[in-house]
Amino acid sequence: MKIVTQVKLMPEADHAAALRSTLRTANDLACWVSEVAFVNDVPREYELRKHTYAHLKASGLGAQAAQHVIKKVRDAYTTLRANIHAGNLGKSTSKRRIKAQSKPIMFRPDAAQPYDDRCLSWQYDQQTVSIWTMRGRIKKVRFVCSADALKVLQRYRKGESDLIERDGAFYLIATCEIPEAAPYEPDHFIGVDLGIVNIATTSTGYQATGRQLTRYRKRQLALRAKLQKKRTKSTKRRLKERSRREQRHVKNTNHIIAKTIVTEAARTSAGICLEELKGIRQRVRLRKPQRVALHSWAFAQLGEFIVYKARRAGVPVVYVDPAYSSKECADCGHVDRLNRISQATFVCRSCGVVAHADRNASRVLARRGENVWTAGRESRVPATP
Ligand SMILES: [Zn+2]
Repeated sequence: MKIVTQVKLMPEADHAAALRSTLRTANDLACWVSEVAFVNDVPREYELRKHTYAHLKASGLGAQAAQHVIKKVRDAYTTLRANIHAGNLGKSTSKRRIKAQSKPIMFRPDAAQPYDDRCLSWQYDQQTVSIWTMRGRIKKVRFVCSADALKVLQRYRKGESDLIERDGAFYLIATCEIPEAAPYEPDHFIGVDLGIVNIATTSTGYQATGRQLTRYRKRQLALRAKLQKKRTKSTKRRLKERSRREQRHVKNTNHIIAKTIVTEAARTSAGICLEELKGIRQRVRLRKPQRVALHSWAFAQLGEFIVYKARRAGVPVVYVDPAYSSKECADCGHVDRLNRISQATFVCRSCGVVAHADRNASRVLARRGENVWTAGRESRVPATP
């Protein structure tokens, strides 16, 4: 499975200048290639190369960098087409779509530029890279990352990396190809219920409350509101920094939750059952104060982390439809809107069982997961005559 790992470059001043001018030039030229693609209607790589390669080389890009610029432009148009096709930009009459189609795709001066192994090499033990720039190859550029990330890079980095600039700092985003463990046959399933008050509740009793995250976000929101009143350049920068810090915080929390759930599953030979996430924003009806609590991307990210860690550990994961899981009794299967008497409490109208609402839902999900797995296994293994 592919993942990306990010490292921060710590270049000397002159090296930083070389990286910056390289990114600027590559992106300026990408804008130019994009115009050529747009005007001549040649989004295909081969034709685009015929129109642009010589000029790119003459502008000082190396052969690899020129190819990467052309490919980057081609990929951007492919993505735009796919997005239009998928309806992500609305109908053919929508303003957004018309705007997107009426002019060439632009590249920001600090947009990502891909590097392959011929223009970028890694020295993991020294924590340095050697990287091609418009001013020649620069060597021994130090990079920093976590010890875990370094291990992953050293073992699994493969293929292209992207160079980006963000708030004046340079980062490399490396692709890593992580091996997966063969999934085992699970003894049982752990259901994971996702929500706002409790971010994740499992059928085996683990619960990650959203209280801390909500409190954190509230504080951030208050600070943001204060900053937003002043529309200066520095407050804009600080707002951006804040939102990034907040994203890192959520990401960190999600990592911990995912690790806890997957570790338990692996230890007890269990599978994990997740809700299909498409509808989480619609499903979780938010009262106004909760709207600040968590974005749907945070849940999607938690799901991704669980799947990623599970695949590495060989833990089977199944998805089920979460419909009515909060209204169904895990003990007797009775479905009733009135079963859930409050946010926290579930009382079955049929068998009278009293349970924590999210815990009950996670047990319902666990059973559905087991059913999905069994049905899948029966269809995989032909019946013996
Ligand atoms: Zn019941």
